[in-house]
Amino acid sequence: MLAGKSALVTGSTSGIGLAIARALAAEGANVMLHGLGEPDAIGQLCEEFEADYDVEVAFSGADVRFPAAIETLARDASDRFGHVDILVNNAGIQHTAPIEEFPAARWDDIIAVNLSAAFHTTRLLLPGMREAGWGRVINTSSAHGLVASVEKVAYIAAKHGIIGMTKVVALETAESAITCNAICPGWVRTELIERQIEARAEDLGVSIEEGARALLAEKQPSMEFVEPDQVAQIAVFLCSEAASQITGAAISVDGGWTAQ
Ligand code: NAD
Repeated sequence: MLAGKSALVTGSTSGIGLAIARALAAEGANVMLHGLGEPDAIGQLCEEFEADYDVEVAFSGADVRFPAAIETLARDASDRFGHVDILVNNAGIQHTAPIEEFPAARWDDIIAVNLSAAFHTTRLLLPGMREAGWGRVINTSSAHGLVASVEKVAYIAAKHGIIGMTKVVALETAESAITCNAICPGWVRTELIERQIEARAEDLGVSIEEGARALLAEKQPSMEFVEPDQVAQIAVFLCSEAASQITGAAISVDGGWTAQ
């Protein structure tokens, strides 16, 4: 479905972003992987993509806390593929603490990575999509983009913010064949939430697996983690022609979390 298209997936060295990059490549898209990680592991990942999907693969390790690094990232992706057809803003970080104890530097980093980075990539890559006459911007928000929880002030501000930005970009591109949507996952068992599971297990004096169940019991009625590939398949659907009239939406995949 996506042969000849090119995608930049930020934060695709692990977790949800990696699953999205795999799913887009499986549909034939050339992919620029992006994120932090060990050079050896990343080199291996690129080789694996080329072998598994027979598509062009590039990589950028740009630290998206910094606008100048994002400019380089956008330029590298455009130079490599001519332009980027599919932009997935997915890189994200978390920190938990009550607001009075929340380190200001962590606030700045979370807003930069989870929100401002998407502003920069989108403003830099939209002109190429407009010129090509087709595009998809997909933002990984969260159930925490729709409802709040305690001790996550920066994350929740950023995830709500990216839904607002999604709507603006959708309106500004509404009369073109470009769409912009947000995906709002509930708990997905990746590196990003492992520390929260460990903390819960420690607080309750139970095993890691019981800590994970406690986390689910609090928020996610299905009592199952969302699989990264279930998020990725929504991204693939959003790239299809069937989804061409879906724009400005925040799509939940959260086992019932936000239905409560
Ligand atoms: P993850 O930790 O596996 O992936 C995060 C990715 O972002 C990695 O590739 C990492 O290298 C990259 N990244 C982090 N900081 C960066 C920086 N400064 N510069 C460049 N890259 C950076 O976690 P994940 O769960 O796969 O998270 C992906 C997205 O999904 C995030 O936006 C997260 O908020 C969102 N999300 C996760 C969950 C969940 O339960 N795991 C739920 C809802 C939304």
